[in-house]
Amino acid sequence: MEYSFEQLNLSKHLRYAIEDLGFEKPTPIQAEAFPVILSGKDVVGISQTGTGKTLAFMLPLLDELKFSKQTTPRIVVLVPTRELVIQLVEQIQEFSKYMDLRVVGVYGGVNMNPQREAVAQGCDIVVGTPGRLYDLTLTRALQLKAVKKLVIDEVDIMLDLGFRVQLTNIFELLPERRQNIMFSATMTEEVDALIDDFFIAPHKIAIALSGT
Ligand code: ADP
Ligand code: MG
Repeated sequence: MEYSFEQLNLSKHLRYAIEDLGFEKPTPIQAEAFPVILSGKDVVGISQTGTGKTLAFMLPLLDELKFSKQTTPRIVVLVPTRELVIQLVEQIQEFSKYMDLRVVGVYGGVNMNPQREAVAQGCDIVVGTPGRLYDLTLTRALQLKAVKKLVIDEVDIMLDLGFRVQLTNIFELLPERRQNIMFSATMTEEVDALIDDFFIAPHKIAIALSGT
């Protein structure tokens, strides 16, 4: 039997948002990722662009987040570029539009002050490029002590761009007890090394190149 959104037993806030988007069933990477992410284990997913990765990790994470509110983020999502930050923030806002969540995007190349104020006001999810996100922690505006979930998307590109040092710096600020979720289009030696250094017995999922 094919995996369905119903099987996830989602809160109605998420169910309605999925219905509004007109999504009828999970893509293959979503169907594989949902139960594994919900198990709380570290996850490494190999999947091409356009296969539906954002929902693959956000849906289980949003479902767990519910409405509980704190001032410091519980989910950090790292992506390699400003464009991806902006896109991801929009996608997350769409999925969580019936939830009362605060999502902030942070990236370099623009003045840091508005972002510093935004995170200082409190947020549930912060999406960012590693360099700017780390810089914000140095200003103390951004505290990572309450982070429960770390997602790294497009990690192969991130390492190609030379973000390994910033990633390591960020890892050191995160609580050790957390779930790590990582997605990459390709499995490179550098990606493998990163997993070895920071992940605990990750569950690996891979989707064939043909996509959805
Ligand atoms: P990726 O991160 O793998 O490149 P995205 O998560 O951005 O992919 O999704 C690619 C496109 O597919 C988006 O336009 C998204 O709205 C759409 N999409 C995602 N999940 C589904 C689904 N279950 N059914 C239909 N369309 C979907
Ligand atoms: Mg994506």
